Amino acid sequence: MLLPDYHIHTARCGHASGGMKEYVEQALTLGLKEIGFADHVPMYWLAEGDRDPELAMPECDLADYVAEIGKLRGLYPDITIRLGIEADYIPGYEEKLRRILERYRFDYVLGSVHYVDGWGFDNPAYIQRYETCDLDELYFRYFKLVRQAAQSRLFDIMAHPDLVKKFGFKPRCNLQVLYDETARVFAEAGVCVEINTAGLRVPAGEIYPAEGFLRACRNNGVPVTTGSDAHLPNQVGHQFDSALDLLTRVGYIKVALFNARKKILQNYEQNRSRNGYTGCF
Ligand SMILES: [Zn+2]
Ligand SMILES: [Zn+2]
Repeated sequence: MLLPDYHIHTARCGHASGGMKEYVEQALTLGLKEIGFADHVPMYWLAEGDRDPELAMPECDLADYVAEIGKLRGLYPDITIRLGIEADYIPGYEEKLRRILERYRFDYVLGSVHYVDGWGFDNPAYIQRYETCDLDELYFRYFKLVRQAAQSRLFDIMAHPDLVKKFGFKPRCNLQVLYDETARVFAEAGVCVEINTAGLRVPAGEIYPAEGFLRACRNNGVPVTTGSDAHLPNQVGHQFDSALDLLTRVGYIKVALFNARKKILQNYEQNRSRNGYTGCF
């Protein structure tokens, strides 16, 4: 099996381009056997009027999003298309999110921390705040929220679990201590960790999570999923050759697949010369 791409956005979220069919067709061109859409959940923690249409789909679009994936399955029988969603973790709003997630038969829910104390720290519009913030404190707060998110039991997979490195600002503290503690919590909470290649497209210049973090996950028996975080059709499967290198280097031989929020571990194809990764990605 080739690596699945479980983190695909669409134009519905307001900051990606391309309809769902274009993403599926790109996946077919690459020879992928399984993909999953994971568009941003409506900004459930804000009042309707305060929601930014460029950050997530409006609540009235969610039913269409789910229905369109159902139709795609009929149109493209040669590829497995999963119904996922990327949901922000906002402390204090757990029940509100739980009620939204219960409405549909999602295959998996990606849990993301994009906000630390109300600051959208991964949004280029607010990057100037890094000039005055204490990076050690930011990393400490970020990883604490990621652990809380895992413990909330709202999510199946922790997406881009060190997103805080996105713009390349590094703290002085010992990151491995944060990685080890967070990986232990992932294991206890029974969540997977996502290998997300979007980190290669931003100043951080490396996959999420960092290799030391992924090794800690491996040592604690945390399963992995793979995703490109595509916001353009041609980003589907983006740099999956690097994801494959990382997986094999760290010693993972299986990836997790999801169906109706049930996890199945499956061997992925490690021999690139036979599966055609080279040249495809
Ligand atoms: Zn995200
Ligand atoms: Zn995403």
